[in-house]
Amino acid sequence: MKQKERLRILYVEDDPSSATLVERVLRAEGYEVIVATDGVTALEVAPRVQPDLILMDINISGMDGYEVTTRLRSVEGMQRVPIVAVTAATLRGDRERALIAGCDGYIPKPINVDSFPDQVRAFLGGLREEVESPEEKAKYLEDYSRRLVEHLEEKIRELQVAHAELYRIDRIKTDFIVLASHELRTPLTVIYGYTRLLLSNPDITGSIEEAGSPRFFLNKIAEATKRLNRVVGDILDISLIDANKLDLAMEPVLLGSLVASVMRNITEMGSDRQLTFEVEGLEDLPLILGDAQRLHQALWNVISNAVKYTPDGGKIRITGRVVERTIHLTVQDTGIGIDQDEQKRIFDRFYVLEDTSLHRSSKTAFKGGGLGLGLTVTKGLIEAHGGRIWVESDGRDEERLPGSTFHILLPLPEENADHQHPATDPLEES
Ligand code: ADP
Repeated sequence: MKQKERLRILYVEDDPSSATLVERVLRAEGYEVIVATDGVTALEVAPRVQPDLILMDINISGMDGYEVTTRLRSVEGMQRVPIVAVTAATLRGDRERALIAGCDGYIPKPINVDSFPDQVRAFLGGLREEVESPEEKAKYLEDYSRRLVEHLEEKIRELQVAHAELYRIDRIKTDFIVLASHELRTPLTVIYGYTRLLLSNPDITGSIEEAGSPRFFLNKIAEATKRLNRVVGDILDISLIDANKLDLAMEPVLLGSLVASVMRNITEMGSDRQLTFEVEGLEDLPLILGDAQRLHQALWNVISNAVKYTPDGGKIRITGRVVERTIHLTVQDTGIGIDQDEQKRIFDRFYVLEDTSLHRSSKTAFKGGGLGLGLTVTKGLIEAHGGRIWVESDGRDEERLPGSTFHILLPLPEENADHQHPATDPLEES
């Protein structure tokens, strides 16, 4: 036995009152007691705490005590630890079943407080029980194997039912989001349309720069509506991507023209930012098959992020080349960069690295915050085109500005595909 001050007993028991009683009795005897409330926890805890004895309640939820015992016997370091079933199952054969499963003994419940410490001491001292007759042993073993398989079958059925239910609930959720987004978009379009109409009316006084004037307020309403529309659009897109319902209008697309159009939009919106744009290899890229509007949206998200996370005076470089049967685009900025452990997570929904209490809503201002959906949508859109997106950066540093490089791979169509009408003029960002 190990040299340590107190002997350690692991008690696997899901009934708190039984656990408390046994714990009290054993602590009074000087043992250290650790309670695990289910089998999976016991399997995880046992090798860590290396108990001198395990007391196993048989009737626990999930994996039962027999199964946990059998499994424990194949866990490193647990082959020789005495495991004693403590159970209210006292029918004929229950003792044998426990021994067959790998237990070394059997103590019926409710425990007898007076004799329990002696029973525990005996097992700690080396007492081991066994099923005496070989015929009985074979019979119980067969019985136990059958029970294990039946239990497995039952669990698989339960999982299948749970899976079907989750699938149904998920579909209801998606349908709801899709419907709600459509319903929200209709009034938003009306608000935006009428606000634009009012803005074009010469009777509206003031200017959009003149704080407090009617025109200034109207412009604020128009901007906020546009932004809200974009957020609703992102939420809708994510639901469609999740549900595999994204309809792509595939046509021949020239990525070079798409990038040029995105850059035109962005430079118009953020004309006050002192940023240099550089492009290389984009004009020579061959046609790909894709949804021009969706690809425009994806590229817009990545390039506008490069603008957002690069301070004034920085550079954004966009390159394109053909590698085997793939177009490889890169969007490289000289911005604040992204830490290694964040580089995968930024593609998760609602993942923003900025402190949301300092949120500034802007698509082009330096570190202007968003909802953290842009890259999730982008990843979904690129993958729906059979492509991949990832980022490389030497970490985040607002002083050193290590920058980030987003890589996008998009497959080229099969060699013999025949495409004649490239889509060169996708929807402008609005
Ligand atoms: P948001 O709409 O909030 O910008 P995104 O999904 O587009 O969300 O981006 C998620 C997070 O990834 C951003 O909040 C930002 O912290 C980080 N990020 C994205 N692009 C860059 C970049 N080019 N440089 C640095 N950080 C970036």
